[in-house]
Amino acid sequence: MKRTVKDLANLKGKVVLLRVDFNVPIDENGKILDATRIVQTLPTIKYLIEKQAKIVLISHLGRPNGYEIRKSLWPIALVLMRLLPTRVYFANKAVGKEVEDQINNMKNGDVLLLENIRFYEGETNCDLNFAKEIAKLGDVFVNDAFGVAHREHATTYAIARIMPNAIGLLMEKEIEGLSGAIKEPKHPFVVIIGGAKVKSKIKFMMKLLEVADTIIIAGAMAYTFMVASGFSVGQSVVYDDSVEYARDILNIAYSQGKKILLPTDHICLRENAKKKKPIVTKDLVDDMVAYDIGPKTIKMFKEEIKNAKQILWNGPLGKYEDARFCEGTKEIAKAIANSKAYTIVGGGDSVSAVKKVGCEDKIDLVSTGGGATLKFIEDETLPCISVIQEKIKL
Ligand code: ADP
Ligand code: MG
Repeated sequence: MKRTVKDLANLKGKVVLLRVDFNVPIDENGKILDATRIVQTLPTIKYLIEKQAKIVLISHLGRPNGYEIRKSLWPIALVLMRLLPTRVYFANKAVGKEVEDQINNMKNGDVLLLENIRFYEGETNCDLNFAKEIAKLGDVFVNDAFGVAHREHATTYAIARIMPNAIGLLMEKEIEGLSGAIKEPKHPFVVIIGGAKVKSKIKFMMKLLEVADTIIIAGAMAYTFMVASGFSVGQSVVYDDSVEYARDILNIAYSQGKKILLPTDHICLRENAKKKKPIVTKDLVDDMVAYDIGPKTIKMFKEEIKNAKQILWNGPLGKYEDARFCEGTKEIAKAIANSKAYTIVGGGDSVSAVKKVGCEDKIDLVSTGGGATLKFIEDETLPCISVIQEKIKL
C-alpha cells in the first residue's frame, strides 16, 4: 500500500507541494468548459486545509511551447476561489524568488496555484535540476494527478525521488477502484471495448482477457475484429496492421472459453449514395461504412449488461460526436449506469460520452485517466505511483 496524504503527520504550517491534473478544457475567453478534474481534487485540498498546511498546487495545461497566455492557469485560480473556503493565490511563475516570497507570505490553510508547469521545458524533460528547484519550495510532495501518472516528468516523477512523498485521495480512489476490479473481479465480469485506437489497446485487451468472462467489442475497432473473423465489413474502417493481433485475441479468448461479442447489425452510410442517409443493416457490403451499432446489437449487449456483476467500459460504441450515430453509445451508457453491477468507465471519450448522457453520478468509478487508466490496467501500476513510498507497517 502506498503512503497517502492521511499518513503524513504534523502538517500544520508545512508547505505541501500538491501535483494535480487541472488539464481541463478552456475556451478562447478563458471559460472552463468542464471542471470535473478540479472538483475531483477538492477532497485532498480540503483535507490539507483542515490540517492547516500551506498548499502549493502544481499542474499542467495542454502542451504549450514555452509561455502561451491561452494556456495560463489563471482561469483555474478563479474557479478555486469560488470552490475553496480559504484564500487562494496565483503565482504567475512556477519557480524563483517571487514564488518563494509568495510562499513565505502564506498563512496556514492558504492555497497558492503555480503557473502552468509545462511553460518550463524541464517538466516534460524530467530534468532533475528543475525538479530540485521545485522541491526547494516545499516540505513534502503529494501526487494526486492520476491522469499523468504514466508520464515521467519533473513534477510527477523526479520530484518524488528527492523529497518526502505520498499520494492524494483522488489517486488513492482511482488505484483502489481499478486494482480491486482487476485483482478481485466480481463475476460475471463484462468488459466493453469500443473506440478507435486498436493498436494502443491490444495489451489492455490481453490483460482483461485474463480476468473477464465476456468481452464486447464495438466502435470503430469492431470492424478489424470482424475482418479477423472472416466477415465482410464493406468500406468500414479497418486497421490493417492490427488484424493479426485481433485474430490472436480472438483465438486466446475462444481457447479459454471466454465469450466474445461483436455487433450483429449496424448503422451505416453508403459511400457512393447521392443523399447520405443512415441505414440499418445486418450485412455490411459494397460501399457501406458502419458508424454505430444497430438496434439488435444494442439489445444483445444490454442483455449481457443486465446479468453482469462487474462492468468495465472503455471506448464509444460509435461515432458518438455525430448525432446520427450516438444512439448505441447513449443506450449502452444508460444501461451501464442503471445496472446493479460494480461499474467502471475509463478513457477520455468514454467519460465525455457518459457526461453527455448525464449519468456519471450513477457510475461507481469514473476513471479520469484516459491513457493512464488503460496503462494502469495493463501493468497494475504506473511509474509515478511506483516511485511513491510504501506505507510504513507498524
Ligand atoms: P477513449 O478515448 O474512450 O479511449 P478512443 O479514443 O479509442 O476512446 O475512441 C474514440 C473515437 O472513436 C471517437 O472519436 C469516436 O467517434 C470514434 N469511433 C467510435 N466508433 C466509430 C465508428 N464506428 N466509426 C468511426 N469512428 C468511431
Ligand atoms: Mg480518446
